[in-house]
Amino acid sequence: MARGVNENAVSRQKCGPPCLRLDAQAAPCRAGAARLTAGARRRKLPGVKRLIVIAALLFAADAAAAQSAAAGAKQAAAASAAQSAVAGAAAAAPAAPATPSECQLRLAKIALFQALPPLVGPGECGAGDVVLLQSVLLSGAARVAVSPPAALRCAMAEQIALWLRDDVAPEALKLGAALRGLDNYDSYECRTRNRVPGATLSEHGRANALDIRALRLADGKVIALTDPEVAKDWREGVRASACARFTTVLGPGSDGAHEEHIHIDLAERRSGYRICEWDVREPGALAANAERVVETGAATKTKPEPAVAKIADPVPLPRPRPVFADAGAKPRLKKFRW
Ligand SMILES: [Zn+2]
Repeated sequence: MARGVNENAVSRQKCGPPCLRLDAQAAPCRAGAARLTAGARRRKLPGVKRLIVIAALLFAADAAAAQSAAAGAKQAAAASAAQSAVAGAAAAAPAAPATPSECQLRLAKIALFQALPPLVGPGECGAGDVVLLQSVLLSGAARVAVSPPAALRCAMAEQIALWLRDDVAPEALKLGAALRGLDNYDSYECRTRNRVPGATLSEHGRANALDIRALRLADGKVIALTDPEVAKDWREGVRASACARFTTVLGPGSDGAHEEHIHIDLAERRSGYRICEWDVREPGALAANAERVVETGAATKTKPEPAVAKIADPVPLPRPRPVFADAGAKPRLKKFRW
C-alpha cells in the first residue's frame, strides 16, 4: 500500500506541472498512475523489474500527455487561423469611411443622407465617396423626400440638393404648393447606356446620374416633368436650371428613351462640353397618352401612387416614338449618351 502511495507520488512528480497547467493533460497522467498502481499489486513484480515497468508506464503517460498537448496546440492554431481569416475577411469587406469627406460635411448642412462604402465593380462600375440621399432640407423645417433614397457620389448628391433647394423649390411655389418630394426613377445601377449590350458604361454605373420622373407637392399634386399639360414656362424654368447645374440633361426629344423621365448627370468631358437635350413640349402634344399631373388630394403620410398610375384615356395608345424629319433617313447618331 505504501508503495502505491509512493508510486503515485512519483507519477505526480513526473507529470505534476503539466497536469496543473492543462486539464487535457491531467486525465492521462492520473489514469497512467492508477493503472501503474493496480498492475504492480496484481503481478507482484520484483523491485528492479517493477521500476522498469513504472518507467515505461510513466513514459507512456507523458507521451500521451504530450500528444494531447500537441493536438490541443494544433487545434488552437487552427482556431486562431480561422479567426484570423474571419478577421481578414471582415477587414476586407467594404465599410463606410469613418471620417466624412469635405463634400459630406457640406452636404450635411442641406440634406439628410447616409454615408455608404465605396462601390466596387463589377467591371468599370463603381464610385468612391458615395451617399444614400434621403431628403433635402429647405428653409425652415421643410424637407423634400427622395423616394426611394438615391445612391450617388457625394458631389452629384450635393448638386441635386442645391438644385432642389435653390432652384426647383422656389419654382414649385408657382404651382400653388411647396415642394415635398422627388420620385427617383434610377440612381446607381451598373449598366450600359440605355441598357444596350456592349454600349458605353452609363453614368449610372458611376453613381453619377439620377433619373427623375416626377416631383411631389405639399397639396398632393404629382408633377410629371415631361407632362405637356404642366405649364410650359414652368417646365422651361426647370429645364434651364437643370442644364445650368448638370453637364448632361436628357428628356423628351433626346433619343426616344427619355420621353417619360429626365436624366441628369455630372459626366466630365473634354473642354467642359455639356449636353442639354430636353424638348419642352407644347401643351396638347402627346395629349392622348402622355403622363398627366395626377390629382391625389391632400398630402398624406402614406406614399402616393406613381405619377403614371392614372391615364385619362381608358384605351391606352402606343407610346410615342421619336420623330425624324425624314422618315426614311437613319436617326442622327450623337456622340454622347448616358
Ligand atoms: Zn438615366
